[in-house]
Amino acid sequence: MESRPLILKLDITGNPTSWINHEEAIRLYASDRVVTSLGTETFLFRGGTNAITRQRSFIEVGSIILTRGRSKIYQHGDEFVPHLTNRALFRRDGHLCLYCGEQFKHAELTRDHIVPMSRGGSDNWENVVTACFRCNNQKGNQTPEEWGGRKLLAVPYVPNKAEYLFLQNRRIIADQQEFLMARFRKGSVLADRFD
Ligand SMILES: [Zn+2]
Repeated sequence: MESRPLILKLDITGNPTSWINHEEAIRLYASDRVVTSLGTETFLFRGGTNAITRQRSFIEVGSIILTRGRSKIYQHGDEFVPHLTNRALFRRDGHLCLYCGEQFKHAELTRDHIVPMSRGGSDNWENVVTACFRCNNQKGNQTPEEWGGRKLLAVPYVPNKAEYLFLQNRRIIADQQEFLMARFRKGSVLADRFD
């Protein structure tokens, strides 16, 4: 089950809203919520057995599905701010410590507040970067300027919805990736990265 790719769900306007598993996708098909499939991939799943004919039904699920209803998240336009999680943050920064530039595993990384929270810095995408334990400890309660004028290796940013969906899923298939990349911000660093 883990090996099955997730399905990219779009609202009626064609904007991507979330990843759903195949069971949720089948439910959407069964309740006639799916308008069309936009991906090039399809997956075949077994449905129930018909009580009279005793034949098994099959359901074909597209990799990208356009569904009825308009998602609320797009009514706020560019003000949409995705939930900040370490997983998405570390992926945004490519698992690099933005101070020393070395790459680490998830468990070896921390969320560093550029302006420390104890000094009024906030816990938002533009004030946080991925940092290794060592750098985070050395920086301590200082700003990068105070910490010997350290420069960040990348500018922290708020991912847009498509970028956030890209960061949420490690096993995006080709057509989904293409769909999301077309909706990245201009010059997005994520476009250069395929992991
Ligand atoms: Zn470091």
